[in-house]
Amino acid sequence: MSKAIQAIRGMNDCLPGETNKWQMVEDVLRRVAGNYGYAEIRMPVLESTNLFKRGIGEVTDIVEKEMYTFEDRNGDSLTLRPEGTASCVRAGNQHGLLYNQEQRLWYMGPMFRHERPQKGRYRQFHQFGIETYGIASADIDAEVIMLSARLWRELGINEFVTLELNSLGSNQARADYRDALVEFLTKHEELLDDDSKRRMHSNPLRVLDSKNKDVQALLVDAPKFSDSLDEESKQHFANLCQRLDAAGIKYQINERLVRGLDYYNRTVFEWVTDSLGAQGTVCAGGRYDGLVAQLGGKGTPAVGFALGIERLVLMLTELEKLENIRATTDVYMVMVGEGVDFTGLALAEQWRDQVPNIRIQGHCGGGKFNKQMKRADKSGAAIAIILGESEIASEQATVKYLRENKEQQTVAFSDIAQLLEQLIEG
Ligand code: ATP
Ligand code: MG
Repeated sequence: MSKAIQAIRGMNDCLPGETNKWQMVEDVLRRVAGNYGYAEIRMPVLESTNLFKRGIGEVTDIVEKEMYTFEDRNGDSLTLRPEGTASCVRAGNQHGLLYNQEQRLWYMGPMFRHERPQKGRYRQFHQFGIETYGIASADIDAEVIMLSARLWRELGINEFVTLELNSLGSNQARADYRDALVEFLTKHEELLDDDSKRRMHSNPLRVLDSKNKDVQALLVDAPKFSDSLDEESKQHFANLCQRLDAAGIKYQINERLVRGLDYYNRTVFEWVTDSLGAQGTVCAGGRYDGLVAQLGGKGTPAVGFALGIERLVLMLTELEKLENIRATTDVYMVMVGEGVDFTGLALAEQWRDQVPNIRIQGHCGGGKFNKQMKRADKSGAAIAIILGESEIASEQATVKYLRENKEQQTVAFSDIAQLLEQLIEG
């Protein structure tokens, strides 16, 4: 036998037994986006490398060290998308969706980053994202955050996440703050690690993001973002906070929150949890009013977020919120005896017509009753519908309950559809 080929490190298969959990989560994400009137957009997973260099910023973790970039056969530099926002803006510009218009969009799909794989951090992972365009006022920031908060409620984890919020202000305010921060960091340069020293020159705000404890300790005395905020951004932030207060959404203002991507201004936020260990951010986003123009469109205000579906599924699993998900199969049809499957398969077709949401798995391949019942049990089905020659003759099936302690029943074929309706409603 030749050696079996393995998947690429950090890129996971999602196996049966997992996929039904994912589908449940994805259904909630889709439905909640729909609850707010958002439309889906789908973008390709490959884009020109320049899109991300220009969009995300050259001096960011993603562009400096995480992208899967290669030359295709034409010698063009392509990159597997590390995130969705730049692609979404590219698509919006290309198809004229953003020009003097408002858009409320969502997307979902795989993203790729060459990071060190560990729990909650993979090289292919999946994001669900929201992007809105054309609205500058803080009501839309509030709406986007409310939408995210609804997701946690719908998934039953709202008690386990907290919202951190900050404002990065206008470009001018950010530049002023950057100067103040660089002045501070320069005074204490000997206390910085190499990464922070490098960032101090290339992208000083990112020093605030440092995971190094000594650097964090030093930053306690660093100048505060709020001191540099411009009046308009202060007002915008206050407007947002008031709306969140009115909606009963709790938040913590975290002045160190800067986000790892260059394109944000004003609102930034993260939903964090301590149910996940080190990878504690489930969802992150903010306002990025400059990006549309930076990628060649007309200046358009924008705000959005992305959440990591793996981290969400991990969290839901750890909190045991995915225990009672409907199995892949509701009904297993056991068919024993010569020619019984002819009638059985036809009946199953009828029942699928009558009860469109039912999931019936018919036994194939014949075999004895006991073997078929074992399959029925393994399928996860709630009931087995048992057909033999006598059942076919009397037009009645035997219904056996596989998960509850309930007497088996004899049910006329014509009453089965009703029973199936009750089964999936129950
Ligand atoms: P982190 O600080 O954890 O690296 P990030 O700031 O790089 O996160 P974003 O680019 O804002 O993350 O992506 C939004 C969300 O996508 C994150 O909050 C996280 O839930 C998820 N995410 C990001 N990178 C990964 C990854 N490599 N594997 C799994 N999920 C990820
Ligand atoms: Mg990252």
